[in-house]
Amino acid sequence: MRTCVLCGGEAEIHDLSTVKQVGCPDCLQYAVADAFCAELADDAKMRASLSRVTRHHTHKGSPISLLNRVQAEWAIVDLEEFEQDVEQRDRLAIDALTGAGPAEDPWDAPIRAAAKTLGISPSEARGFAADIEARGRLRIASLPSSGAIPGAEPSHERYCWEECSPRADRTID
Ligand SMILES: [Zn+2]
Repeated sequence: MRTCVLCGGEAEIHDLSTVKQVGCPDCLQYAVADAFCAELADDAKMRASLSRVTRHHTHKGSPISLLNRVQAEWAIVDLEEFEQDVEQRDRLAIDALTGAGPAEDPWDAPIRAAAKTLGISPSEARGFAADIEARGRLRIASLPSSGAIPGAEPSHERYCWEECSPRADRTID
């Protein structure tokens, strides 16, 4: 059994020439340079932070390669800054949800689009969307079924996410 470099849990590991490719149920997908592994072994705080970084990048669809301490520290700072920028995260989520278009289940495909944009899991994205909705910035609208094509299969009801307040960048100055 091989263990994850970051969390120590059971993981699938492929050894390449100078890096390991890791698939972990908790840290998800990442690569780590062999030269960086020994250094990480002595730094539990950095391992914990990097586990959040690797999850974030996997959810974004582009797993990260951890090469050395400097690059890893930058990746941690980048994620922390992103997570602290509430307005930017709201904006990205709103754009992803409204841009996803109509769906039979507004909590399915649009949520997956938002999850990928934000680098979080679909269940986290569901909670995030519910929070924005509760704050009155988004609502779910049902689309009128009158547009159905005659003779076509009866269409299922469809829904889309709508932004409630006007976008600040549309303000005329
Ligand atoms: Zn792990």
